[in-house]
Amino acid sequence: MRNGKIGLQGILFDAKSSYMRGPALAPPLIRNAYKSDSANYFSESGIELRPNVFNDLGDFTIDDYFDIEKITVRNLGPKQPLITLGGDHSITYPILKAVTDQYGPVNILHIDAHSDLYYEFEGDKYSHACPFARIMEEELANRLVQIGIRTLSTHQKEQADKFEVEILAMKDFDSIPDFNEPIYLSLDIDALDPAFAPGVSHHEPGGLSTREVLQIIQKIEVPIIGADIVEYNPKRDINGVTAMVCAKFLKEITAKIIEKKPKYF
Ligand code: MN
Ligand code: MN
Repeated sequence: MRNGKIGLQGILFDAKSSYMRGPALAPPLIRNAYKSDSANYFSESGIELRPNVFNDLGDFTIDDYFDIEKITVRNLGPKQPLITLGGDHSITYPILKAVTDQYGPVNILHIDAHSDLYYEFEGDKYSHACPFARIMEEELANRLVQIGIRTLSTHQKEQADKFEVEILAMKDFDSIPDFNEPIYLSLDIDALDPAFAPGVSHHEPGGLSTREVLQIIQKIEVPIIGADIVEYNPKRDINGVTAMVCAKFLKEITAKIIEKKPKYF
């Protein structure tokens, strides 16, 4: 990690949302929740993670979707883990382009209510319903493992079969996948049941609990080279509870990056 730190960038972008805008407002609110006096900076594993653990690169307003890749290339230090706060889920494709430029194809753990595998959605191939179709077409992932899925359409099922996506559907959720190589973690907050995280555009009942997502993160046994937390929509939040959930995940992902850091950091 450059300066022993973890890169942090905010992508203020929600123009590829299909239903409701709002996630562009999320990054500063997640940062505020992270720094809230209502909590301390300790992870559950006992690591203190004050904000200076991050090489905070700031928040970026996006005019052109394709600028996200350029900005991420600039913000990616050599072999420095980078956490991105979104933003809608469309941002993961350009981020992965930047990440794989440096690392080559990665293994992806994708936690979401939706598989986001549409070839195109309402005429847009870069919709937030499509990033993992682009990622798989361009062979940016060696493995794509999806957890929390509970909205699979016939088309997306065909896409998943075509790209050999490993889907641990919500209805069968009883275990956490094993990885033996470093991963990139993409966490869409609507993977959670709306009871735990109301601040999302797409309320999809029957999802993961906050604790189940924490357990998935805490049981990762391989290095995390990068992560994103996307789709938090402050316009739908109640008393900032979802912002605190995002901040908690940011803290636990950061702890895991530090615990599992490869020797070259
Ligand atoms: Mn998504
Ligand atoms: Mn989703």
